[in-house]
Amino acid sequence: MRNKADAVIVGGGIIGVATAFYLARAKYGQIVLVEQEPLLGAGATSKAAGGIRAQFSTRVNIEMSMLSEEIFVNFKEETGFDALFDQVGYMFLLQSDEEVTRFQKSCELQRSLGLDVKMLTPDEISKVAPHISLEGIRTATFCEQDGLGDPHEFLTGYEKAARDMGVDLELDTTVTGIERHQGAISKVLTSRGSISTPLVINCTGPQAGLIAEMAGAKLPVAPIRRQIVTTGKLDFVEPYFPMVVDVKTGLYCHKESQGMLLGWADKSVEPSFDVSLDPNYTDHILEIALERIPQLEQAEIGNEWTGLYEVTPDHHAVIGWEPEVRGLFHIAGFSGHGFMHAPAAGRISSEIICGKKPSLDISALDPTRFGKGVMVEETNVI
Ligand SMILES: Cc1cc2nc3c(=O)[nH]c(=O)nc-3n(C[C@H](O)[C@H](O)[C@H](O)COP(=O)(O)OP(=O)(O)OC[C@H]3O[C@@H](n4cnc5c(N)ncnc54)[C@H](O)[C@@H]3O)c2cc1C
Repeated sequence: MRNKADAVIVGGGIIGVATAFYLARAKYGQIVLVEQEPLLGAGATSKAAGGIRAQFSTRVNIEMSMLSEEIFVNFKEETGFDALFDQVGYMFLLQSDEEVTRFQKSCELQRSLGLDVKMLTPDEISKVAPHISLEGIRTATFCEQDGLGDPHEFLTGYEKAARDMGVDLELDTTVTGIERHQGAISKVLTSRGSISTPLVINCTGPQAGLIAEMAGAKLPVAPIRRQIVTTGKLDFVEPYFPMVVDVKTGLYCHKESQGMLLGWADKSVEPSFDVSLDPNYTDHILEIALERIPQLEQAEIGNEWTGLYEVTPDHHAVIGWEPEVRGLFHIAGFSGHGFMHAPAAGRISSEIICGKKPSLDISALDPTRFGKGVMVEETNVI
């Protein structure tokens, strides 16, 4: 492993690898990416449900998604490698007055930014997502450009392209400390030796708060367990079946392999690094899924797993220079949306680090917002 670099990226998930690609493309200099696991993408990235959507409630999240979706569609031109963005669409099922009003408001904002999002009647819902029970459902929002992708495919594309441009990817290498000299980053200590560098990019997902702490900073990113279940083969699942989110219960589901993937965010889970499987969590997912998709009665469980969301107080990512430590840049805290925002996050971070004007105004994601108390909450979180 080299002992000197222009930039050290800590974390080899989708965010770290995408950032390595964009920085290398900008010819930033010698970049070393350090990942503690023997494989890239072994953290939250490998647990993601693969949802990609632009239907958010704040301008910055909508624009981050729209830019990312453009890159996902043109991924081959961007990186030289294939990866499928399956644009089956994303649907939010709405029941109460409060839900309808809130999503109508978001739709107006999304349309004003150029997103083609519709409000569907129950009949239209059935055409796009047959087998969904319409019990209690008044309407749904639907965006055809949203959809699904395999995080591993996109990560691999970015990885290969980054390697081809000379990025060093150091696996099985844990960052154990970060040294500063006169308030600025000077060295990264790892389980395999140290690397002198003026720049550390913190892409450690749920562990981002720990890396910030090593450098003498504070970052409010909480690790929160989420659980997913997949079914075995189901004959009724059509290739066009979209991602469906039942806003009232928090259930989300989409086609997966030859069956379905079912997930739900248990809002009572406290922050911790615990990733043990909870059978009650799975039971609850199946219970609410059966109500919305009665045909799941014939389903067998295919697989189940847990992973960690990386949650900030306002459910927005943190992208920018750490105010307390010169040379520390955070790209973290995506609050469950890091796969879908990775292309935009990587590209824009690279622009900021290289001193260019970013293609999007992401000042709302600046790390200083927590100290200033100027947070704007993202309300459309799953
Ligand atoms: C169940 C579940 C479902 C999800 N579904 C979706 C979805 O549908 N769509 C979506 O966009 N997002 C989804 N997400 C969120 C998404 O997975 C994350 O936002 C995204 O993967 C974050 O990527 P990352 O690279 O920041 O983090 P990670 O993938 O966790 O990568 C961080 C890496 O840093 C490494 N690391 C940590 N500490 C150190 C250290 N000290 N030294 C060296 N390396 C270190 C870790 O090993 C890890 O590989 C989901 C998450 C979960 C848990």
